[in-house]
Amino acid sequence: MSTPQFFKRSILATLVSLACLSSTAQAQTASSNQLVLESATMDLKADPCTQFFEYANGLWLKNNPIPADRSRYSAYDEVTERNMIALKKIAETAAAGHDQHRAAQLVGAFYASGMNEAQIEKEGVRPLDATLAKINAIGDKQQLISMIAVLHKQGINPLFGFTIDQDAKNANRYIPQLMQGGLGLPDRDYYLKTDTKTKEIRAKYLSYMTQMFSFLGDTSDVAAKNAADVLALETRLAKVSLTKVELRDPQASYHLSDLAGLQKLTKSTPWATYFSGVGLTQPGQFNIAHPKFFAEADRLLDRVPLDQWKTYLRWELLNTRASALSSALVNAHFDFYGKTLAGTKELQPRWKRVLASIDAHTGEAMGELYVAQFFGPEAKAGVQEMVTNIKAAMRDSIGKLEWMSDVTKQQSYKKLDTVMVKIGYPDVWRDYSGLQIDKGSYADNIARASEFEFKRVLAKLGKPIDRNEWGMTPQTVNAYYNPTMNEMVFPAGILQPPLYHVNADPAANYGNTGATIGHELTHGFDDEGRQFDAQGNLKSWWTPQDEKKFLLRAKAIERQFDEFNPIDQLHINGKLTAGENIADLGGLKIALQALRQSLKAKPQAAEIDGLTPDQRFFVANAQSFRSLIRDEMLRMKLATDPHAPDKYRVIAPLANMPEFAEAFQCKGDRSPLRQGAKRVNIW
Ligand SMILES: [Zn+2]
Repeated sequence: MSTPQFFKRSILATLVSLACLSSTAQAQTASSNQLVLESATMDLKADPCTQFFEYANGLWLKNNPIPADRSRYSAYDEVTERNMIALKKIAETAAAGHDQHRAAQLVGAFYASGMNEAQIEKEGVRPLDATLAKINAIGDKQQLISMIAVLHKQGINPLFGFTIDQDAKNANRYIPQLMQGGLGLPDRDYYLKTDTKTKEIRAKYLSYMTQMFSFLGDTSDVAAKNAADVLALETRLAKVSLTKVELRDPQASYHLSDLAGLQKLTKSTPWATYFSGVGLTQPGQFNIAHPKFFAEADRLLDRVPLDQWKTYLRWELLNTRASALSSALVNAHFDFYGKTLAGTKELQPRWKRVLASIDAHTGEAMGELYVAQFFGPEAKAGVQEMVTNIKAAMRDSIGKLEWMSDVTKQQSYKKLDTVMVKIGYPDVWRDYSGLQIDKGSYADNIARASEFEFKRVLAKLGKPIDRNEWGMTPQTVNAYYNPTMNEMVFPAGILQPPLYHVNADPAANYGNTGATIGHELTHGFDDEGRQFDAQGNLKSWWTPQDEKKFLLRAKAIERQFDEFNPIDQLHINGKLTAGENIADLGGLKIALQALRQSLKAKPQAAEIDGLTPDQRFFVANAQSFRSLIRDEMLRMKLATDPHAPDKYRVIAPLANMPEFAEAFQCKGDRSPLRQGAKRVNIW
């Protein structure tokens, strides 16, 4: 099943935080240093005005080579790595079986099955046999659609995506959502671009597929032919898929319809068979997110021979489950997705991969054990206080905006006052009863957990909106804003040093986690989030004049980022990254105002390590984005990630903030400030 929470926006791409698990209480207590800010990692020889990223991070960048099993190494990854060691301990204790707690039993059995390498090697591709036999037995189009439904229920996603999520224009109800999908490469552009690098990737994708088909017993000729057929089919789907930029327009992904409407659009697809296959006899109204895509899928279902479809389904199954199978498949999968696409040198050790899989499939069971040990009420209270202050600063900033009319301001306050905040972990833990996880087959555990998750999401249909639901696990080192819920969510995993410390210098906490809170809050008002109202409905609440003025300002930030050229001839895509860039700039400005307000109430030392509170604020922000990235991963991010590369997330906002130039007394040629109409000022 596709990710729920369709329009969710996070502080980091999930693409780079796939294995994100979080940090430990040891870290919270062991850091006796009052600062989150780490002065020892700075390079004081660099000029803060013209080389701020290096000034704040120079020694860290020099002394922290990217680990062989990573494609990037950042402050977030430091937290993740430290935290994985704590989670390993939790999982090992659980696997030893002394804890009768349901979550511990589940995590323990899952971990034990994943660590049983001998058993996994012995099984080979056996866990796929039953499903492969069903695919081979498909005799007509009805059975093909029926099989697609079966695979969707198992968490395998051929052809398109299906989920249950809020109706974007009536956020008080859940409806089914049908979306474009079915691609094995990271984005449609990988199928269509003709530059050398992209062609190389496609060639390697073909040889990866060929190798994988041979593991199922295909002869080399047949395997190569099968790979070519899959690539041809996926390319036709890619051609009618919306681009990443087009996907940022929520209206472009909203087309309310019903079975009769869908059947009219796609005459030869037996949709009733699909819906009853997934367990929905009465789908009611639903969203056909991408009609053009489904029209083409319908044509393909009509014209592409059944045997090629069966090949494609085998491929989807094999590729999705590869990482849970024997080493030949794991290595082939890593060789393409890890090495070729992301530049990672080495496969992660098994225990890390198993923890990531537990996180993905039964993450809240792990989260329950984790927060019991590692997240205290004082951290929650500290973050809550920052949220209150940052919301107040945002209200203040809206009040002072010269470009916005009073009418729109009143609506903005309404949205701001309604935004819901979740900190740490869910009030109600997810109920895993009925899910069978045992110490037997790891791949079978994953299949059952995927099916259990599908049923959980399906069961939302017709029920009231579950406002307790979390879209990330508590141990995740990330945060998000969800516009249809009008909520921002900060898992315990991100509220850890060096990102947050309950006793840290407020200037450091506000520059780091405070800016993240401001970032998420601003998402409710960025080029995408502003289109949703206080109740989470996709419904304009702006006067046409204010909308025009906002779009002009958004255009200015697009231009600023279009100018950056991090590698080869590849530029940052200003349109793709606009929402995140608006959130970074707005979040930083609002967090600084909130810090200044809070220092009036609770004054702190004027200088620490020779730095004023404003200077420490900016340094802490830059340190939260310290990172090194492999070239391959950087290219993939530029093509697919709505977040700009980390360095630019630091320097670009500063070029729009006179507060920064003042803090470091940057004048004349040394001033990074953009002048006149080029300077972006939104929130
Ligand atoms: Zn974001």
